[in-house]
Amino acid sequence: VKFDLVVIGSGPSGQKAAVQAAKLGRSVAVIERQQIGGACLHTGTIPSKSLREAALNPELGRSVRGVMQRALRVIQDEAEGISDHFVRNKIHYIPGRASLLSAQKVLVVSAGERLEIEGGKIVLAVGTRPRRPKEMPWDSGVVHDSDTILGLGVEPKSMLVIGAGVIGCEYASIFQQAGVKVTLLESKPDFLRTIDQELVSVLAKEFVRRGLELILGADASSITKIDTPLGPRAEVVIGGKRRVFDLVLVCQGRTGNSDGLGLSQAGVEVDERGLIKVDRNYRTSVPSIYAVGDIIGSPALAAASYEQGRLAALHAMTDRPVHFPDTFPTGIYTIPEISAVGPTEAELRKRRIKFVVGRASYAETARGKMIGELSGLLKLLVHQKTRRIMGVHIIGPGATELVHIGQCAMAFGATADYFVENVFNYPTLAEAYKVAAFNALNQLHHPSA
Ligand SMILES: Cc1cc2nc3c(=O)[nH]c(=O)nc-3n(C[C@H](O)[C@H](O)[C@H](O)COP(=O)(O)OP(=O)(O)OC[C@H]3O[C@@H](n4cnc5c(N)ncnc54)[C@H](O)[C@@H]3O)c2cc1C
Repeated sequence: VKFDLVVIGSGPSGQKAAVQAAKLGRSVAVIERQQIGGACLHTGTIPSKSLREAALNPELGRSVRGVMQRALRVIQDEAEGISDHFVRNKIHYIPGRASLLSAQKVLVVSAGERLEIEGGKIVLAVGTRPRRPKEMPWDSGVVHDSDTILGLGVEPKSMLVIGAGVIGCEYASIFQQAGVKVTLLESKPDFLRTIDQELVSVLAKEFVRRGLELILGADASSITKIDTPLGPRAEVVIGGKRRVFDLVLVCQGRTGNSDGLGLSQAGVEVDERGLIKVDRNYRTSVPSIYAVGDIIGSPALAAASYEQGRLAALHAMTDRPVHFPDTFPTGIYTIPEISAVGPTEAELRKRRIKFVVGRASYAETARGKMIGELSGLLKLLVHQKTRRIMGVHIIGPGATELVHIGQCAMAFGATADYFVENVFNYPTLAEAYKVAAFNALNQLHHPSA
């Protein structure tokens, strides 16, 4: 069997690659070894964000288990939506495990059956899985990763989250919000290092204010399952002290699904972390093979993966160079949430760019006062000479939506004056842009202030 494009993996990047090629009138096959939708739908973005919504809105589910059930319904709906999309676009969906036989040949193994298919071009969209450090007692039932936590059959009262990266911070705040007593442990002295550190310190304060225990600069040196009258629990030594938790959630990074994919057989280069190397057009070291999504590394977000998939298919099918936008946002769904577009202050300083920071606290907006979210903060990084918006960094409710106003302004090359000279709905949180722009422009009129 021969297709113009063969896509391995049906997560966000694989889906969009397939649909884009199909829209160009090409024949497309998608191979998936698990369920349609990828980690994004089954173990990543969708379940974690459904849990978050439910935790924030108690009427959606009053217990951890109730919240989980609701998440499963959202997943099922989304999976049906993706299947329909494939059918409507005449994309062949082939269940099975794929591996490369050569630069244009793929072997699919499904329930003992072997099928060889040929792709004019091949897109690797295989994603990642949680990294499981060997020393943890994974079979004990009290230690979970971000995949297995979703099958949780118990109502934990306490939880240790190891690793304060994005996933660790998100789950820590979601479970805390759902009524679990959470301890978040990070071995480094700081966390979320790529994020604006002023926002991270607001987040750390909010964590603590909401009752979460944040421990930085300490390790969990031993984890063992113990049997107690209340059932199995996890005993953990943290910084020399013995602690007991109902369960432990390990969030210590992810590993690329590049093993068993026949990469070396086809001549595709990977780095030491198993991530596939690509050029600006998402082509690997083999010209007929592309790679997109989490398997090529940062930013490893669903939104970016969708676009990478679309761009790779465009290049593969038309040979025209593609460009991933510079102004893409990052969203971190902690409670409160964080979102940013453009460089941080630290990055601008490194590039020796002169800028001012316009700040607006949510407390300075009428809407912020009404909803009682006084710790929210919006920062506009404004170029000192051109007054252009260089970056937007927000923490607080609605941050992941609000950021798109700044993204739009940046994409159209707006200066801070845009926010001053335009009328905003009142009362809104978006008004924080106006307050921050006034604040920035005041500093530009009085550079020494
Ligand atoms: C807990 C968690 C929360 C997240 N939250 C967010 C968020 O809020 N926002 C956001 O933007 N991103 C979020 N992400 C990241 C997001 O899920 C990923 O960026 C996205 O899933 C990457 O898409 P992908 O297409 O690269 O691969 P994936 O979604 O990982 O899909 C890859 C697919 O390939 C299949 N596959 C692998 N190998 C083979 C093979 N040999 N043969 C056949 N099929 C194969 C796999 O079974 C899988 O279905 C989160 C991730 C996690 C883990």
